[in-house]
Amino acid sequence: MKYRALFATRKTQTPQSEGLQGMTENSAGGYAYPVDNWTRLARFLILGSEGGTYYIAEKPLTVENAKSVIDCIEEDGIKVVQTVVEISTQGRAPKNDPALFVLAMAAGLGDEDTRKAAMAALPKVARTGTHLLHFADYVEGFRGWGRGLRRAIGNWYTGMDSERLSLQLVKYKQRDGWSHRDLLRLAHPKTEEADKRALLGWTVQPENAERVAEAAEKFRLIDGMVRLQKTQDVKEAAETIRTFSLPREVVPTELLNEQEIWNALLVDMPMTAMIRNLAKMTSIGLLATGSDAADYIADTIRNPAVIRKARVHPLTLLLAQKTYASGRGLKGSLSWAPVASVIDALDDAFYASFKNVEPTGARIMLALDISGSMSQPIAGSSIYASEASAAMALVTVATEKNVHVAGFAESLIPLPISSRQRLDDVTRTIRNYTFGPTDCAQPMLYALEKGLKIDAFVIYTDSETWFGQIHPAEALRRYREKTGIPAKLIVVGMTSNGFSIADPNDAGMMDVVGFDSAAPGVIADFIRGASNSYEEAAE
Ligand code: CA
Repeated sequence: MKYRALFATRKTQTPQSEGLQGMTENSAGGYAYPVDNWTRLARFLILGSEGGTYYIAEKPLTVENAKSVIDCIEEDGIKVVQTVVEISTQGRAPKNDPALFVLAMAAGLGDEDTRKAAMAALPKVARTGTHLLHFADYVEGFRGWGRGLRRAIGNWYTGMDSERLSLQLVKYKQRDGWSHRDLLRLAHPKTEEADKRALLGWTVQPENAERVAEAAEKFRLIDGMVRLQKTQDVKEAAETIRTFSLPREVVPTELLNEQEIWNALLVDMPMTAMIRNLAKMTSIGLLATGSDAADYIADTIRNPAVIRKARVHPLTLLLAQKTYASGRGLKGSLSWAPVASVIDALDDAFYASFKNVEPTGARIMLALDISGSMSQPIAGSSIYASEASAAMALVTVATEKNVHVAGFAESLIPLPISSRQRLDDVTRTIRNYTFGPTDCAQPMLYALEKGLKIDAFVIYTDSETWFGQIHPAEALRRYREKTGIPAKLIVVGMTSNGFSIADPNDAGMMDVVGFDSAAPGVIADFIRGASNSYEEAAE
């Protein structure tokens, strides 16, 4: 007679369809812990809400996240601004839009000090002309164009070095219904610098011949751009691009099918532009196996110093590698024969783009949620949450000696992932596995059953667990009791929802945001015991 199963005053096992103390119902009908507003803020800043999750559509997910942001602003607006600046300037997020959005919220909804701090942070978070135009669009949703905002926008133009500003104004004319001309007319910035006056005058009146001549005289970039517009000759155009270091954005479309033009552009091409144009440069034949351009590009792309300086995010590289290796564009009909050395360079660059990855020497189980809900694109990309998890797991596999890699849905299977595999190979494998109901307790139950000695379980999941007979936190505590190992649990949240399987009251469990470029370093610190919180470790 199983009396205990029918009655006990102390429960050690609760099915996931019932909540433990402090839990809330998740979107899958199971129960998990709600994450606090600050964790949610970090999730939103890094993963955004574009495309929603498997369970929550884009709009309600955005509204939920925005409500958490408002709570954070009410609690400590200055801390919100600091968090935005940190994540944005350190290149920890794949996209800067959530940072600009949260900054706009702080600039509109914060108390006076918060609004001031948000305005002061504008040049740090809006680093390009496009960023500023996005911000202008966002901020209108939270406040009017009062003096403080106009001054902050004006300061953005007057505070930036003139040469750098000229590049921004030449490259990005308008976005989201806003142009620099509109913003300058609103803000009316005053400056004593003659150079800058000429530059801003030209931006406001680009058709005025006198303004053009004045700006061209003071700025080589504008001089070159004007010259380029006057020529139809490919050789002359290429020469002009080279002489004046012109960016791709100012080159007329009809010239962009010429190898000579791209060869000239390549001389001063920033890494982000290089990555974006790999397919194009391959399709026109400039990038080919053994070509000088291929060697140059491969060397540049995998250079850690260049990666750091350009703040290239691992997700950008993962996506670029996957798309480039496939030989076909996601949209349109562009196809190309990918160059192997470039694919390999993107592979190397991916690992180099994560911060501070040092081995811990600990016994680690990396467990990837490969249930159905993980076949959902993350951060507005075409990469599934499950694929992104596998790619991140590779970083740990490449660093640590003692790693088990497993995938779980309703049960657990060991995954044959090796650091010698190429990224696109690993993500393709995962995509084929992904399906089934979710039981996030499986990694701990499996380790117990197989007698595996594990110091840290790292689970990549959306925490939409519902299928299991025991909660993950309980399964971990059972593992600790039965093995005597004080095992830790790190939950890598792969969506910006509000749930976690990590018990916030257990110091041995922590939430990390998926695809934060600082995540592998943060995880390693926590395993080492060097830090107890995400915030502390990410600093
Ligand atoms: Ca699921």
